[in-house]
Amino acid sequence: MKRKTTRRNLLKAGVAAAALTRPASTSAGAFQSVTIEKPFHGAVLNARHGKQGETGLKITVSGRAPMRDLVTVNGSSARRAGTEFTSNITLTEKETEIAAISQGRFGRHEHRVRVIWDKHSEPRYRFSIDDNSFFLRDIATKKYSSLFDCFYLKGLRELHMKYGTKFVLNIYYTTEDGFELPQFPGRYKSEWRDNSNWLKLAFHAYANEPARPYQYASASKLIGDLKKVAEHIVRFAGEQTYSPPTVIHWGMVQPAALKPLYDNGVRVLSGYFRRSGGVWDVNYLVDEARSEYMSRHDAMMDFDSGIVFSKVDIVCNSTPIERIVPTLEPLTRDPNQAEIMDIFTHEQYFWPFYSTYIPDHFQRLDTAIRWATERGYKPVFFHEGFLGGPDAT
Ligand SMILES: [Zn+2]
Repeated sequence: MKRKTTRRNLLKAGVAAAALTRPASTSAGAFQSVTIEKPFHGAVLNARHGKQGETGLKITVSGRAPMRDLVTVNGSSARRAGTEFTSNITLTEKETEIAAISQGRFGRHEHRVRVIWDKHSEPRYRFSIDDNSFFLRDIATKKYSSLFDCFYLKGLRELHMKYGTKFVLNIYYTTEDGFELPQFPGRYKSEWRDNSNWLKLAFHAYANEPARPYQYASASKLIGDLKKVAEHIVRFAGEQTYSPPTVIHWGMVQPAALKPLYDNGVRVLSGYFRRSGGVWDVNYLVDEARSEYMSRHDAMMDFDSGIVFSKVDIVCNSTPIERIVPTLEPLTRDPNQAEIMDIFTHEQYFWPFYSTYIPDHFQRLDTAIRWATERGYKPVFFHEGFLGGPDAT
């Protein structure tokens, strides 16, 4: 807000100055205050984004400033070419503020961005499954002797045993046909605990319906539902099985809900960050510039809340087997998308009674996970460390 006001005033000053002096070399177009274009504010940077050595990660900062202005970046003179400037800096801390300062005809101006250095980053994948509720109802109704007598958990365990995959299942409070979490028995608690190194439960929403339940909900409604579900996860599956939410149903919450989510343990939220009907969607309502950035990057820090956003790379239930590798493979060639594979699907498509049941759903998971494994991606939980990797601090 502050920056906009400044810029508007500057624009007027710039036009006035140009009119008085008519500098022969003034480029076409309006005055543009110094602006860092790369890296993006909130960028999560790793060895793919520069030269990483013992002392830090050397990156290039680039942007635009009025021609002939002197530009410094964190105190060092930047190279100029027309309205562009570039400068190299070395990130030595987890979080770095980058300040570009221009001085010239239009006075002194500055632009600051902050970035994160993911120092210990390594290729990794996380597997998250949304909209879970049917398997809990199934276990509670059938009273199996083991959790893994339920074919769904059995299938996930097979994938875990084959590839070491870690799964986080994002669950509802109710299936809306009479089953609610309080009915889920505590007698599987030790089995949950024994498997908590690879199988976690997280809050997703109160129920599947209505759609987009938190898009316009208050933070207190969202946190109230989160706590209701969290309480039962801890009751029947133990603390070790509990994961803070990593995807909120429909990927939409009010901006004011982000900090309360952080305060309730959330560190990473995944979304699609896609455009539909001309508007950005499944993007936690972050602004257009950041949504566009997220649509082609693995991650971005929201400094106001402390939450890191992650871009979902594949939705297995909407990707036929033969499209799985062609969807993932190109990402490995893009330094901005190659480091973290956010693999994702929904529970309902596993169930034969579901109207759009997908008979080869488990094979789809197997195909995606085998690809990630063969390409050297390690299974992680996003809420552990930094985006599932060792923390940079
Ligand atoms: Zn959902």
